[in-house]
Amino acid sequence: IGTLYIVATPIGNLEDISERALKVLADVDLVAAEDTRHTGKLLSHFSIKAKTFALHDHNEKQKAQQILTWLEQGMDIALVSDAGTPLISDPGYAVVNLCREAGAQVTPVPGACAAIAAVSCSGLPTDRFQFIGFTPAKSQARQSFFKEAHESGITSIMYESTHRIMASLADLQTALGEQQQVVFAKELTKTYETFFSGPVCELIAFLENEPERQRGELVLMLPGKNQVSSEMTPEAKQLIGLLEGEMP
Ligand code: SAM
Repeated sequence: IGTLYIVATPIGNLEDISERALKVLADVDLVAAEDTRHTGKLLSHFSIKAKTFALHDHNEKQKAQQILTWLEQGMDIALVSDAGTPLISDPGYAVVNLCREAGAQVTPVPGACAAIAAVSCSGLPTDRFQFIGFTPAKSQARQSFFKEAHESGITSIMYESTHRIMASLADLQTALGEQQQVVFAKELTKTYETFFSGPVCELIAFLENEPERQRGELVLMLPGKNQVSSEMTPEAKQLIGLLEGEMP
């Protein structure tokens, strides 16, 4: 029986692909991709010739059975999504679930994930956090979603689409008040990477001042209720002092 590799691809900067990912993509018999054209471009950028197979949310259940059959025939298969780690708000769940249940070997080739990249630079507590996917589409549901996230008492990470960000922030403000702290991370690893942390009313003003700031891919983070960010250690303070001295 073959191996199913779950391969992470970059979320913007192509240099973030791992050596192992390139090797696996070049070596497997087939690459199952969310969008074969998109993945085709990535593969050709790295001069990898691979057979691709389309796997998206609409056909995933039927295609999962096909993938399992191929693994049983001894083929090695890589599963990729358009960006980042497959299955993280991306297709792949039906395939991995079926293959695991059937006893096939499923192994990760880890790499970029927008949620993890965002929270690692957010300044929010990371000892405990939750990833809660995309915010709901309807206003009422969104307000409850934000309240629940905040009530959890731990850092929440969520994905948001560019055309919904302003409506979503308005709901966050209604649900938790205009002084609620948030962290916004945009276009991670790309030219216009931006982080903003502060009260939600200031983030709204920041995005309204220059509407192009609303465009692009973004992650929204919310600290948990009663969550105090850990005091900076004396070593960290000293290091910041040293770094500031080096700044031009
Ligand atoms: N599987 C991907 C991952 O591991 O991050 C996420 C796929 S999901 C369909 C796409 C969403 O991820 C975007 O709407 C955005 O919220 C977030 N995202 C992806 N790339 C990003 C980036 N470079 N900067 C900020 N957010 C990003």
